[in-house]
Amino acid sequence: MPRISLARIKDIALDALFPPLCLTCAKLLPSHRRSSVSCDACLTAVPLYDGLFCPACLRRIPHGGRLCHPETKYVLAPAANYGNMTVQKLIWQCKYHNWISAAEPIAKLMTKYMQGLPHDFGGYAVVPIPLHKNREWSRGFNQAHVIGTRMAAYLGIPVVAGNLVRAKKTSAQADQKDYAAREENIRGAFHALDPEAFKGRSIMLVDDVTTSGATLHEAAKVMKQCGAKNVVALVAARAR
Ligand SMILES: [Zn+2]
Ligand SMILES: [Zn+2]
Repeated sequence: MPRISLARIKDIALDALFPPLCLTCAKLLPSHRRSSVSCDACLTAVPLYDGLFCPACLRRIPHGGRLCHPETKYVLAPAANYGNMTVQKLIWQCKYHNWISAAEPIAKLMTKYMQGLPHDFGGYAVVPIPLHKNREWSRGFNQAHVIGTRMAAYLGIPVVAGNLVRAKKTSAQADQKDYAAREENIRGAFHALDPEAFKGRSIMLVDDVTTSGATLHEAAKVMKQCGAKNVVALVAARAR
């Protein structure tokens, strides 16, 4: 009879008690993918965008073309739409259930999207959108940082974390009634500890999801005030 290790017995028992199921289709995940949260079929089926967007009017920016609203502080790079169930569940898991394992497939989707764009982001530095330190302590991690560092590693670009800080405690953006209220709520929330570090650089702001765009706008504004050359806001999903 083949010998079976204690660790293997533990895995079998855990699988029986808590079968590892795909978040989207609820199919049993193969044992070598036990730490995953979505099956390959569901991840491959996520439709990815193939361009960059104007954050003001959400029009797709033609490659090599001009930005229709040049007064905006950044261009929006959304990997997918929040309407997609797999993306929605992954983001939800990552944010509210401390499932850092959900960050891995999110980072992979974002990387696949970036690699599909006809742009070279080799000179960019990833700056994750920070949480207020109290929020980060209570959650245990900043999902934008977890996603951003993984994605930066896949793309082979540096991460500049800890320089952009969120010093102001804000109410939840989701609780604000309209864009003006969201803009007011987030105004002055961010600042750079060392503004010189962003000067002349191309910055890739990273967040999990954008709704009104007020948070990205405020962070991008600070980057531009520091003298950043270009700001691209990369999000896993856009919810508008
Ligand atoms: Zn699935
Ligand atoms: Zn526009």
